[in-house]
Amino acid sequence: MAAYDVIVVGAGPGGYVAAIRAAQLGMKTAIVERDKLGGVCLNWGCIPTKALLRSAEVYRNIAHAKEFGLSVEGVSFDRAAVVERSRKVAQRMERGVQFLMKKNKIDVIAGEAKLEEGAAAPKVVVAGERYDAKHVILATGARAREFPATGLTAGPRVWTYREAMTPPEWPESLLVFGSGAIGMEFASFYATFGVKVTVVEMLDRVLPVEDAEISAFAQKRFARDGITIHTSTEAKSLKASENGVEAVVMSGGASQTLTASHAILALGITGNVENLGLEALGVKVERGHVVIDGHGRTNVAGLYAIGDLAGAPWLAHKASHEGVICVEAIAGLNPHPMDVSRIPGCTFTHPQVASVGMTEARAKEAGRTVHVGRFPFAGNGKAIALGEDQGMVKTIFDAKTGELLGAHMVGAEVTELIQGFVIAMTGELTEAELMETIFPHPTLSEMMHESVLDAYGRVLHV
Ligand SMILES: Cc1cc2nc3c(=O)[nH]c(=O)nc-3n(C[C@H](O)[C@H](O)[C@H](O)COP(=O)(O)OP(=O)(O)OC[C@H]3O[C@@H](n4cnc5c(N)ncnc54)[C@H](O)[C@@H]3O)c2cc1C
Repeated sequence: MAAYDVIVVGAGPGGYVAAIRAAQLGMKTAIVERDKLGGVCLNWGCIPTKALLRSAEVYRNIAHAKEFGLSVEGVSFDRAAVVERSRKVAQRMERGVQFLMKKNKIDVIAGEAKLEEGAAAPKVVVAGERYDAKHVILATGARAREFPATGLTAGPRVWTYREAMTPPEWPESLLVFGSGAIGMEFASFYATFGVKVTVVEMLDRVLPVEDAEISAFAQKRFARDGITIHTSTEAKSLKASENGVEAVVMSGGASQTLTASHAILALGITGNVENLGLEALGVKVERGHVVIDGHGRTNVAGLYAIGDLAGAPWLAHKASHEGVICVEAIAGLNPHPMDVSRIPGCTFTHPQVASVGMTEARAKEAGRTVHVGRFPFAGNGKAIALGEDQGMVKTIFDAKTGELLGAHMVGAEVTELIQGFVIAMTGELTEAELMETIFPHPTLSEMMHESVLDAYGRVLHV
């Protein structure tokens, strides 16, 4: 029976980062993975979808070549090659994690882990072999939510993200259920390549976690790209046949039938809590997720949970940050507890969307008096030079203290820009310091400055 300081179960971004940090801190570490190193993020989520969306972006840019004084003839695409590139990118990432495990002398145990009662922490059982550890970190991730009662469940022609990114056949038309980041990214990808896409969203706008103004802006752009969007619309049933899919949806008390060749389910996710032995150990699980404190501790001694398994927001950078905090707490380094209010979110659609902190509505609900700044891409020289003059940056400040409460963006490359505001929030910068900061010209980042200036009536370029 091997004994470790730390055993991590699940090698997604939460798990493998936790393992690396544990090894850096001198702990004897092992990681158990039943599938591929890198987890959903590197193999089936963040990275392969961004590879697909990059193909879509290049294709879209070529289609607009004339606007840039270029002529390109006979533009077409090879569906299989687009998907193959995405798979190759994922494979490269997996090899990268293999290298990191080796470099950090982390034992990789292949197989499905279960837990049993142990001494300091539960024992980890893999293929009949029992492993002892002082600390066990669960990072088993999550999977797409399905709703069998209404037929919203995966099958031929009804895809979860896995099939959507490795389509067994190319769809002629698509019904996408759910307009969060995953649903809209697939909608944007397929629409760019000419698939007729219809999105069904139960709430009153797409990307419902985003600021209402940003959602509305993005929604118009998605519609301009040919995506049909039904908001405030609930899916009542979905049936698949040999010829396609048929959904009955309800909106404003009226029902209608929508048809397509295929459907994608993007209705949220649920934690992989099953078959781990959690019930026998008495681990607290609520609504499909393991309950933890700010440092990843569960209610069972020596057992921790991080990442998607431990609940929203279901983001890779949240998972990996939790991994670091959890291990540092185990090592007695007294790390800060997880602060979910400062986790940025990015959606890599066309146009991109990115945000951090409170929406305007949320800030007002919280009783804050706010200064709100806005700046349009049309007022920025770099955006115009890039041919990307559609978008906006919005900032929300506490009127009393100047605290940056939230930043919200839609438009080209905003997923790269948002980190500037995340750093500002972490450093607790106020409007005064942000206004004093010099932003390089000509860059899209100047719009961040202008948005701050606008919140205080000092905007320069509109
Ligand atoms: C299509 C899609 C696109 C996404 N895009 C983004 C994005 O752009 N940005 C972003 O931040 N997030 C994105 N996400 C979310 C992101 O992938 C997750 O938040 C992230 O992967 C969570 O990491 P994790 O370590 O918690 O779990 P996971 O990455 O899910 O890894 C969990 C691992 O545990 C393994 N496992 C499970 N049970 C066991 C067991 N019993 N024994 C051994 N191994 C086990 C699984 O095989 C898996 O490899 C996307 C997700 C999807 C589906």
